[in-house]
Amino acid sequence: MPDDPWKVHLIRSPRRTQTYSARLVGDVLEVRVPAGLGLDRERQIIDQLVAKLRARVARSQRLGDADLMKRAQGLNLRYFDGKLRINSVRFVTNQHSRFGSCTSGTADIRLSDRLIRMPLWVQDYVLVHELAHLAEPNHSPRFWEMVHRYKLAERAIGYLMASGMNEGIEAPD
Ligand SMILES: [Zn+2]
Repeated sequence: MPDDPWKVHLIRSPRRTQTYSARLVGDVLEVRVPAGLGLDRERQIIDQLVAKLRARVARSQRLGDADLMKRAQGLNLRYFDGKLRINSVRFVTNQHSRFGSCTSGTADIRLSDRLIRMPLWVQDYVLVHELAHLAEPNHSPRFWEMVHRYKLAERAIGYLMASGMNEGIEAPD
């Protein structure tokens, strides 16, 4: 699966006779199987385990997305008088150097899943930044005036720059 964020590492263990097991080590799914199973059975086991893991990741992403929407609405109330209409806010895996994007026509906000491992105040900056784009598509002075209502904006921009996420503003992938 080209979309899966992990690699599979198969370990054939001569000591295990019946059982197989799997664990996620960083980005690698370590699968231990008894030696001598045969390629077909190995493939079948790997497919099952990958399907299970994929379902688990999808579930936690859905929970994360629900939480994200709640936070975006909170920031909308606090910094934009609740006036913005947000259609969806979601983490995506295909944005690496860009921390986020906002399609103002449809009011869809996407955040890089790299942000999941960053502090909440940095995530909130990105949310405020993308929310401000709903009102102002460009990085105009009016846009930055809105973004800086969020007091930690400058610090968050520094944090993102230090993480290699460009200037703290979006750039093409
Ligand atoms: Zn921007």
